[in-house]
Amino acid sequence: MADPYDVIVIGGGPGGYHAAIRAAQLDKKTAVVEVDKPGGRCLNYACIPAKTMLHTAEILDRAEHSAELGVTVQGASLDWEALAERRAKVSETLSGGVKMLWDKNKVAMIEGQGSLTEDGNVAVGDDTYETEAVILATGSVALAIPGVEFSERVVDTWGAWSLPTLPKSIAVVGAGASGTEIASGYIRYGTEVTLIEMLPQILPAEDKDIARVVERVFKKQGIEVLTGTPISDVEPASKSVKAKVGDRELEVEYLCICGGRAPDTEGLGLEAAGVATGEGGKIEIDELQRTSNPKVFAIGDLVRGADLAHKAQEEGVVAAETIAGVSTHPVDPNLVPGATFCEPQVASVGMTEQQAKDAGRDVKVGRMKLGGVGASAVYDDRDGIVKLVADAEYGEILGAHVVGNRACDMIAELVDTIALEGGYQELARISHAHPTISEAVLDAARAVDGWAIHQ
Ligand SMILES: Cc1cc2nc3c(=O)[nH]c(=O)nc-3n(C[C@H](O)[C@H](O)[C@H](O)COP(=O)(O)OP(=O)(O)OC[C@H]3O[C@@H](n4cnc5c(N)ncnc54)[C@H](O)[C@@H]3O)c2cc1C
Repeated sequence: MADPYDVIVIGGGPGGYHAAIRAAQLDKKTAVVEVDKPGGRCLNYACIPAKTMLHTAEILDRAEHSAELGVTVQGASLDWEALAERRAKVSETLSGGVKMLWDKNKVAMIEGQGSLTEDGNVAVGDDTYETEAVILATGSVALAIPGVEFSERVVDTWGAWSLPTLPKSIAVVGAGASGTEIASGYIRYGTEVTLIEMLPQILPAEDKDIARVVERVFKKQGIEVLTGTPISDVEPASKSVKAKVGDRELEVEYLCICGGRAPDTEGLGLEAAGVATGEGGKIEIDELQRTSNPKVFAIGDLVRGADLAHKAQEEGVVAAETIAGVSTHPVDPNLVPGATFCEPQVASVGMTEQQAKDAGRDVKVGRMKLGGVGASAVYDDRDGIVKLVADAEYGEILGAHVVGNRACDMIAELVDTIALEGGYQELARISHAHPTISEAVLDAARAVDGWAIHQ
């Protein structure tokens, strides 16, 4: 048996690499077991490749629509191979960066498939590594929909972002964050896109007003949006795939299923090690990421709450600090922002207006169109709104919702305001730099009491 470790992290994604570095900073002898690449699925197959692809969609779209801004671009076109190369290079660079950070912090990387032994140590191949504590961070895997299997023509999100050639048509099933991002990317590459959602609205987790803006823009961009529409009879062939969508037949080059994800716990040895799982196979944890085995912690997509990289990262920090016995700060799931990088972007934190009402709260709402602030005309960026849902009596911000091209950056100040227990009245008095789209946040806060200046 090799020298014992203080902490072994299984899985080197955003959750795992943060946990390992934080443990090492706290003088714990730490290793990460990773069967694939540093940075996990997020850096190599999910968040980062998706955003790299979307960035190019934005550049192409800008090039094609910039004449009004005084820039004439002739013959802007997409070089699919160059884009695929860049996508791979960005992931490679960031993955290399994670490995460098591990080296710098003296975190050992053990390559291979890790599992728990019955006594809470870690087995990798024929080797067993003794450790004081284990952090499970193996993430999640894509789920198809009942009766449908992934294949060459029926792809998951990574399949969609890594197609060998630019398709003429694609249908995306599931209009959550990943599905809307794929639809939004491909429509701007020039592909025919059908976005299919079984529920009555796209982005079903988002506030209705926000989803409505995105749907309107998507339709304007040419995406065929089908809500409240089930898909069935999926029949992949060699060059296309057929399916029944509602009561019509659809034939497209590729069908992408964004049907959700399941925790990747296969072969981890949870049961033998006494690690309990609950709803949806997620590992049960307390607020300090402790599982039912006192030696074992779990973070990221393996545990309850939204499957988001930034949530995984913060949970990794909490697990490492708990193991090291230093004061920590449990992750508040209500303060984890959602971020969807379609065009226009969507970001939110806390409750939707409906959720707040369902929770029995007496709510007041402030809405501000981005088009109302000067910056939107300057930057030619008018689509979108900021919506604040506030408690009518005390002014607490119960939910904040932004749709617009900078939404995923703009949400940060709203998360901060809520985390620091600021109400909408405080927000309404905080100076925002001019001319920036963030001025719409200021006016949305003022709009709650009916005194938005630009409305
Ligand atoms: C298309 C797409 C886009 C997304 N975009 C965003 C986004 O923009 N922002 C955001 O916040 N979230 C996004 N997400 C979600 C995000 O990718 C996940 O929440 C995040 O990756 C979870 O991190 P993690 O550390 O739990 O696991 P992962 O990133 O899944 O990493 C787990 C790692 O564990 C390794 N592993 C698994 N089993 C073993 C084993 N037994 N032994 C050793 N290693 C193992 C895997 O190889 C992997 O490297 C996106 C997801 C998808 C699918």
